[in-house]
Amino acid sequence: MAQEDLFKKLVSHCKEYGYVFQSSEVYDGLSAVYDYGQYGVELKNNIKKYWWDSMVLLYENVVGLDSAIFMHPTIWKASGHVDAFNDPLVDNKDSKKRYRADVLIEDQRAKFEGKIEKEITKAKKRFGEAFNEDQFKETNPRVLANQGKIDELTARFAKAMNDNDLEGLKQIILDYEISCPVSGTKNWTDVRQFNLMFSTEMGSTAEGASKIYLRPETAQGIFVNYLNVQKTGRMKLPFGIAQIGKAFRNEIVARQFIFRMREFEQMEMQYFVRPGEEMKWFKHWKQFRMKWHQSLGFGSENYRFHDHDKLAHYANAATDIEFKYPFGFKEVEGIHSRTDYDLKQHQEYSGKKFQFFDPELNESYTPYVVETSIGVDRMFLQVISASYTEEEIKKENGKTDSRVVLSLPAFLAPVKLAVFPLIKKDGLPDIAREIINELKFDFYCQYDEKDSIGKRYRRHDAIGTPFCVTVDHQTATDRTVTIRHRDTMEQERVKIEDLKRIIGENVSYEKALRSL
Ligand code: ATP
Repeated sequence: MAQEDLFKKLVSHCKEYGYVFQSSEVYDGLSAVYDYGQYGVELKNNIKKYWWDSMVLLYENVVGLDSAIFMHPTIWKASGHVDAFNDPLVDNKDSKKRYRADVLIEDQRAKFEGKIEKEITKAKKRFGEAFNEDQFKETNPRVLANQGKIDELTARFAKAMNDNDLEGLKQIILDYEISCPVSGTKNWTDVRQFNLMFSTEMGSTAEGASKIYLRPETAQGIFVNYLNVQKTGRMKLPFGIAQIGKAFRNEIVARQFIFRMREFEQMEMQYFVRPGEEMKWFKHWKQFRMKWHQSLGFGSENYRFHDHDKLAHYANAATDIEFKYPFGFKEVEGIHSRTDYDLKQHQEYSGKKFQFFDPELNESYTPYVVETSIGVDRMFLQVISASYTEEEIKKENGKTDSRVVLSLPAFLAPVKLAVFPLIKKDGLPDIAREIINELKFDFYCQYDEKDSIGKRYRRHDAIGTPFCVTVDHQTATDRTVTIRHRDTMEQERVKIEDLKRIIGENVSYEKALRSL
């Protein structure tokens, strides 16, 4: 299936099965804002819990926080967001569409990378077993030519971004003949800076009201609380503070479903370390976070690191974990070594002490910070895109059938168990209800008696329910049921009393957590 088609299908599947709805749909929608439906909210909660437990349960020295969205406006002055939280925007004069200049350039680089990949795939086919990819990349003239273009583009791009050189960015767009995907023309306006923070007013009278911001990241709430947590939790360095919460950005371009939203959710962890030890911890968290993603079983080939060419004003190292979405490799998580920038800024702007007294070294210093920052919504899209499958099934009578199945990792699935009475009479619904009443304390169960068993299976395949249990006439005599496994579609007959153990073993994330 073409990747573009896949993406369209995902979006409509999410809507049809109660995962994600466009916000304010009855009023024609609000751009780049989405609501999570009855299954979406369950999946989202399960993702958040898996993240939270992998940070706060697994690491004794990582604790949680839930800071407010509204914060003192000076926080955003100190952090640099008021002056520098900008994206470079450019308009195409013919289509009137607006783009981020840096994204247009990155997409151009991805095109060159795509050409190299194509050459490699072709050569792999031609040479078979004997193919040596490294040697091919070092010698093939077409690969070398494209690599040369990538290197030159990367160097110019990094310089223009680092120098905040907007004319330079425009010149790159012109020199590489980047055209508007909608109009196809190269008729561009100048590149301008655009601040991404939303603001509102706090206070009851117009005169007395003060301008405040909706936080564009959750991290600052952690920085301004770090000494509160350190002191009350008697934390020693290194230690981390984890937080999950909403963030808001007035994104210039927002056309990729829940990938780029104006209101979204982040799961962030700030790890406070001794100065000089930040690179060690940066490496640690880089590896750990990659392992976390890969623990979901979506295939290691679908992830890669992308080290930053341009470092944010506060960072001395940064990398993204990218996932292969239907629209290509894109950032799902950022890992940043933020130095002591934020804490020092808050110390300066607040006039309060932000230093930590290290009893082992017998000295005070401002800790350095390594941050891991992942978007819940991008993670949600990762899980949905990796799990969505369309399958052809051979039936016993030789005919074929098809099904759409969300092969979600069982511990993330919204509904763990669906219970069906084979028919609506002979006391079978009562037994089905009895099973649910016993298991509902441990798992999210659903009762379903409508339509044929086959249709009920399909409905739950599409939702991603890992287990369906059917109560039939035999159940009434021997207290056994059939349990059907979503991915293999295999059915087995088991005792009702064993259901809790069988399902429990399969939907627990203990194994995944232990693998980290
Ligand atoms: P991008 O370059 O794609 O705009 P970013 O580098 O600005 O992302 P960060 O500031 O590092 O993103 O934010 C950390 C994480 O928050 C990202 O890895 C992403 O998962 C998530 N995130 C950021 N912006 C958005 C958004 N507009 N919608 C959804 N998730 C987002």
